[in-house]
Amino acid sequence: SAAPLGSSVIPIVNKLQDIFAQLGSQSMIELPQVAVVGSQSSGKSSVLEALVGRDFLPRGNEICTRRPLVLQLLQTKRKGDGTGEDEWGEFLHLPGKRFYDFSDIRSEIQAETAKEAGGNKGVSDKQIRLKIFSPNVLDITLVDLPGITKVPVGDQPSDIEARIRTMIMSYIKKPSCLILAVTAANSDLANSDALQIAGNADPDGYRTIGIITKLDIMDRGTDARNLLLGKVIPLRLGYVGVVNRCQEDIILNRSIKDALAAEEKFFRSRPVYNGVADRCGVPQLAKKLNQILVQHIKSILPGLKSRISSALVSVAKEHASYGEITESKACIAGQGTLILNILSKYSEAFSSMVEGRNEEM
Ligand code: GDP
Ligand code: MG
Repeated sequence: SAAPLGSSVIPIVNKLQDIFAQLGSQSMIELPQVAVVGSQSSGKSSVLEALVGRDFLPRGNEICTRRPLVLQLLQTKRKGDGTGEDEWGEFLHLPGKRFYDFSDIRSEIQAETAKEAGGNKGVSDKQIRLKIFSPNVLDITLVDLPGITKVPVGDQPSDIEARIRTMIMSYIKKPSCLILAVTAANSDLANSDALQIAGNADPDGYRTIGIITKLDIMDRGTDARNLLLGKVIPLRLGYVGVVNRCQEDIILNRSIKDALAAEEKFFRSRPVYNGVADRCGVPQLAKKLNQILVQHIKSILPGLKSRISSALVSVAKEHASYGEITESKACIAGQGTLILNILSKYSEAFSSMVEGRNEEM
């Protein structure tokens, strides 16, 4: 079950991390967080799950995500012994307990949600923190957030909408947060809560990707082509349309793999989407995110280079003041030069990777 998110970025990041590890320094590459925003039941949790490629989030046609879930993906070494025991989840509130069965992770999220936010649709801003360890992921943090609702139900307070908006903003206002703004295709884009709140946090649209879900249940005779082309509401980073599992699929326990195959078939069988294939489907969304991550890595390389250069200068100065160089220092200096060379090569490689690939970036 290879996760589509990160697949092309993992080797690059791994390589860089290996190089830094040799220098004895901590990881210097901090990837941006990715948060999903939008109305309740627009398909936010479904999109995140599809990106991760595993089934583990509560999803459904009423309020399911009632606390922010901070999902940290952590890459582990592949065991390769076929036991399937190289992928597991671990919650901050249950340290040391490994969840190998991903449906148990979902039950635990539900139990932990109820513990803090009650059993009757209440919402809490207290995070649930979950780490997923897997050989197939990039070290990145994804945040699943409660959706925007207007009318209080169950135990929700009368100011539920304002509370949820404040909670969402506290995540997406950070300049390092990528925003996946999710709107269902069967609702009006001009009334999209997702685009509205993303626009507040990121007015110039440098870190907002529009996602249109539920293309399969649009009104007959309509399609999302103009939405995806940005002709309705333009968005700098553009839109991707997806088809997630419907409620019946959830009840029938349909797998992600089947869902992705069904999505592919959906787009293939509708000529209207032929010319916009690069904006259709979860794999395209993953690709878009990967390109943004590569762009991000590229943008931080000059800073990394200058940090390494100045480290080298201080080693050289020390050398001059003592008149001799210890073996370990010589080694560090040598590796530093090597790293600078490698980073320069990467910069070029990144430039050619990124340029010309994505006309909207
Ligand atoms: P969230 O509240 O935004 O996190 O939305 P969920 O991911 O929990 O999905 C809400 C409901 O919409 C669930 O019943 C999903 O099965 C359904 N759903 C989500 N995306 C799609 C889609 O693309 N097509 C269809 N038919 N149903 C979807
Ligand atoms: Mg949700």
